[in-house]
Amino acid sequence: MDAQELINTVALAMRRGVKVAELRDTVYQHPTSTDAFNDVLATIVRADRPQTAHVPAVPPGSVGVASGRKGAAVTTASMTGKVALVTGATSGIGAATAETLAECGAHVLVAGRDRGRGGAVVEAIRQRGGTADFVAADLLDADSVRQLARQAVELGGGRVDILVNGAGIYPFGPTEQTPQSEFDAVYALNVKAPFYLVAELAPAMAERGSGAIVNVSTMAAAFGVSGMALYGSSKAAVNLLTKAWAAEYGPRGVRVNAVQPGPTQTEGTAGMREDLDTLASQAPAGRPATPREIAEAIAYLAGDAASFVHGVVLPVDGGRTAV
Ligand code: NAP
Repeated sequence: MDAQELINTVALAMRRGVKVAELRDTVYQHPTSTDAFNDVLATIVRADRPQTAHVPAVPPGSVGVASGRKGAAVTTASMTGKVALVTGATSGIGAATAETLAECGAHVLVAGRDRGRGGAVVEAIRQRGGTADFVAADLLDADSVRQLARQAVELGGGRVDILVNGAGIYPFGPTEQTPQSEFDAVYALNVKAPFYLVAELAPAMAERGSGAIVNVSTMAAAFGVSGMALYGSSKAAVNLLTKAWAAEYGPRGVRVNAVQPGPTQTEGTAGMREDLDTLASQAPAGRPATPREIAEAIAYLAGDAASFVHGVVLPVDGGRTAV
């Protein structure tokens, strides 16, 4: 099936009333190039407009039910009135997180570099009755990181209540073949950007006495994987930062936690389907996750349902690190 056939299949399914979140899962199963994949997703978002006009928004002050996939529903305490900044929200896990938090009632600030994909995520959220804005930022540069924090506070009406550090890159390969530029980029985006976002945003959360920060790690930070030394070590730093920040900001009402996903079908992993399946086959679940499955765990940690959860690195890996 090529991309056009996939679009046709998806369009047909939509006419039959299948929900967009389920279609997203179908697309993630499809082995196609990243460009084609993005075209298909954009087509889904455009085609979704008339259908989602009927999807009710979470009523203010109520308990929100985020139910993106058939059979998968998580109940989350309402995030109405809260502002959530999600980095890496133009794609994959970050995009699904932005959508999930918006379904819980949060005003979501969708951060990334790609305006097209960011705009599509914002549009999808608004079509569902949610509130979202796109903020462009290249997080390889620490000044841009600080600028993103300032813009987010401005767009959020003076506050950011929830920060999800989702942006990340994961180049794999032998240590001896890793160029210095790659090492610098991985640590700049995966470690330095979250570090300075927290430095910018956590103090104000602490002053208000409440806030939630969720870092996105990886199961490759929990054990050694050949070819993943650089990536795994950057996320191992994130795991320790999670605990250090829980110690630093937790006593002032800011909860800091992390999710540690296993292999997940995203735009970023679209070109490594076989490797993903092989990795996933070693876990009890035996399959890769959908972005929504990771997003639901992030939403839990970001929400009041996790009010007594501090400094946790939560494996969401189909059981891989447990066995
Ligand atoms: P993805 O589909 O490749 O998306 C990556 C996101 O990061 C995009 O939104 C991208 O936005 C953003 N990004 C990349 N470079 C950036 C830069 N220089 N400045 C700002 N934003 C940048 O990724 P994913 O697979 O969903 O992974 C998301 C997170 O989960 C990452 O931290 C990853 O390490 C972690 N994770 C993924 C898996 C997996 O199997 N997929 C497993 C475990 C952990 P723009 O392109 O718009 O800039």
